[in-house]
Amino acid sequence: MKKQTYDSEIYNESKKIILNENYQKGMGKNTSNIDNYMIHYFDFGRKRNKNKIYIQSQLHGNETFSTLVILELKKLLEKTPNRYFNSFIRLVPRINPYSWHEYLYNGNGRLNPANGKDWNRSFEWGQSISDNSFDRNTTLSNLTFSLIKDFNFIWDIHTPENGIEHLYCNHFSTDKSYFGIENIIEYGEPTIYSLDEACTRLQKQLNINEAITIELPSHIHAQAKNVLFWADRLYRELISRGFVHLKIDNHVPITRKFRVGQWVDYYADKSGIIQYNFELGELIQTGAELFNIIPFDYINDFYPTKNTFEGYPICIRSKSMVDKGNWVVRVLKVDRYEYSTT
Ligand SMILES: [Zn+2]
Repeated sequence: MKKQTYDSEIYNESKKIILNENYQKGMGKNTSNIDNYMIHYFDFGRKRNKNKIYIQSQLHGNETFSTLVILELKKLLEKTPNRYFNSFIRLVPRINPYSWHEYLYNGNGRLNPANGKDWNRSFEWGQSISDNSFDRNTTLSNLTFSLIKDFNFIWDIHTPENGIEHLYCNHFSTDKSYFGIENIIEYGEPTIYSLDEACTRLQKQLNINEAITIELPSHIHAQAKNVLFWADRLYRELISRGFVHLKIDNHVPITRKFRVGQWVDYYADKSGIIQYNFELGELIQTGAELFNIIPFDYINDFYPTKNTFEGYPICIRSKSMVDKGNWVVRVLKVDRYEYSTT
């Protein structure tokens, strides 16, 4: 890509981290396409700017919609004149080479096949890098940490298994527009249990101002218009938060009402086929039937799983069958409704 420099500082720059040789060997048969095993990143703005925002996607290999959106955002930033960058922005469109590989060849983008751990749950920074496949979580953690360590704002872009857009943040504030995403899960003060990498970083990195994990909609196809729509939302958010100094035209209305709360997960209490009784994003009353599991023998009785509070289902399992104990649906339990002042 075109490189521009100004005052010996970075404006638009493309770089990549190359996984070491042992990693590549560990990837198996398709190592000839070496470009697949690089982490590319793109920097915009001046490094000396106080606000540094790190934006990554595709930590889970199957979440390719988020990558498409970040690549479109990259085009928007490339078109932005250098003088408008009030910040230092780093884009990482595909952060996890292991999960790309696993998803492409084995259909699994979420879990480290070596130990069954979710890629977004294990962050063992500071441990030594190893080429042992069991240590891929550690390796990935160290790589991402090397990319992120100087940044004080984080946007981690995901795509749920099958769901509507929602967002996790450490602290909700009414003076921000949150990408127009209506469903907000607020961590509150960092706790011992961390849901994802952004939250873990927040706990361990005292200089981080804000960590946001966005789940883009996955109940729709990755049509170009949807990709453009979300890239535009991200770009506008960069502008409205002052990372890019531009005026926003307000012709595109975005949601100003937010549902802020916590999440509750429901699991299958038996094996079978799932039958849902709701639409994603629909208000479900306390005691309403969320889903049934139809057992494989079709003989045993089946009982619906009921919603235990008023809330909004935001994402569901992508597979239509479950084993007992599998996760089925996540519901946003609303603590309060908030209105943006922007
Ligand atoms: Zn994800």
